[in-house]
Amino acid sequence: MSQKSRTQLIFNVGFLLHQSRGFSRRYDFNFPSVQLADDLTLLHLDGNLTLTRSGDGLLAQGSFSSEVNLECTRCLETFLQPLEIEFSELLVFPAKEAEDPVLAIPESGQLDLNPLLRENFLLMIPLQPHCSEDCKGLCPICGNNLNENACYHDSEDIDPRLEVLKNLLD
Ligand SMILES: [Zn+2]
Ligand SMILES: [Zn+2]
Repeated sequence: MSQKSRTQLIFNVGFLLHQSRGFSRRYDFNFPSVQLADDLTLLHLDGNLTLTRSGDGLLAQGSFSSEVNLECTRCLETFLQPLEIEFSELLVFPAKEAEDPVLAIPESGQLDLNPLLRENFLLMIPLQPHCSEDCKGLCPICGNNLNENACYHDSEDIDPRLEVLKNLLD
């Protein structure tokens, strides 16, 4: 996939920079699908962003919810993980004063919200995703998904080496 497959969320905030301190504007977002990076696609992105003029740029206060397809580390099935973020960041203008390029407003006043959302959503993705709290995972003997069917293995299925151990213990 090329870099072009990323969704740009660009909007013009230049006019806000000409307002006096305290002026604010709210933006609402609703997208069925947004590709934040080659390997991160958000589904049902919903939320809002309020930009308030401050002395150093714009204060960005965002609240977003979304869903992302993840693979369960127990049963290996793909499932939809809900994600929510809230952030409050100072977007700096002029851009050369910003230490973090993600938090810089370009000279053009065309702000791309993609990097800011990407950084915040990536932090919310669990390292060990589970399709549900009580996911039973895969059977260690046959690999069956135990959420779908229980396994009732008889002794023939037990590894012969374990059988020897069992006899010793008996
Ligand atoms: Zn699972
Ligand atoms: Zn099994």
